[in-house]
Amino acid sequence: MKNPTRTKHQTMMNPTKPKPTNITLNKTESFLEIVWNIDGQVSRYPLPQLREACPCVECRGGHAYMNPAYDPDNLLTLELKPARDYTVQTVNMVGNYALQPIWGDDHSTGIYTWEYLYKLRPQADADGG
Ligand SMILES: [Zn+2]
Repeated sequence: MKNPTRTKHQTMMNPTKPKPTNITLNKTESFLEIVWNIDGQVSRYPLPQLREACPCVECRGGHAYMNPAYDPDNLLTLELKPARDYTVQTVNMVGNYALQPIWGDDHSTGIYTWEYLYKLRPQADADGG
């Protein structure tokens, strides 16, 4: 006799999802500042690196098509490419879950979700050097 027991996957954990409580675009000094709802963290994203981290298919094109797991942990480790427009015209909110920067060259297909931004946030050098 079968007595199937169903095991439901219950999500016991309910971690706080990162979400900005304040967003400031500083064009003069070329950074985007986000204040997070987690520990009141303040993250400053240099615009050039933010552009390099653009998650859109176009920017992740070429071989990256085969490798969607573009997954940088630290924005500051990204290399910059010369001759690219790293200025930003404005930053739009997408719904209530993401930012959409409009870059100086009108590129605007990159959607930066809160989780992506939170993951990308520049972190202080932990080496203690
Ligand atoms: Zn892009």
